[in-house]
Amino acid sequence: MLRGRCGCNAVAYEVADEFVAAYNCHCSNCRATTGAAFLPWGEIEREKLTVTQGVERLRLLGDAEAIHEVRCGECWSLLYWTARGGEYVRVPYGTLVDEPALKPTAHMFVGSKASWYQIVDDLPQHDEYPWS
Ligand SMILES: [Zn+2]
Ligand SMILES: [Zn+2]
Repeated sequence: MLRGRCGCNAVAYEVADEFVAAYNCHCSNCRATTGAAFLPWGEIEREKLTVTQGVERLRLLGDAEAIHEVRCGECWSLLYWTARGGEYVRVPYGTLVDEPALKPTAHMFVGSKASWYQIVDDLPQHDEYPWS
């Protein structure tokens, strides 16, 4: 199990170290929501993530039964959002306390990356989605 938390420590979660995909997303929405150059995330089956502390602090934006994102209601850290119709969630790797076995495998939305940020690793770069 990997531990994770929000920025103010009100919320903690555990997630299996079984991510099935991981990317660094450079799209403008990810940059704006994190305030960072890109958002590294990992995808995993929804039932493999459990909020262990601060469940009552969670704020859900969107449709609980479909597409939504979950943030800490105190500090508004983004904790996870749904993918593939809700069967999977995507977890910002920055919220992990522990190191996941699956590291980001590529950069996505490099076509809209911040001009002031230079990618210096050798991972594949995709202008938009890697799978399109
Ligand atoms: Zn918080
Ligand atoms: Zn993005």
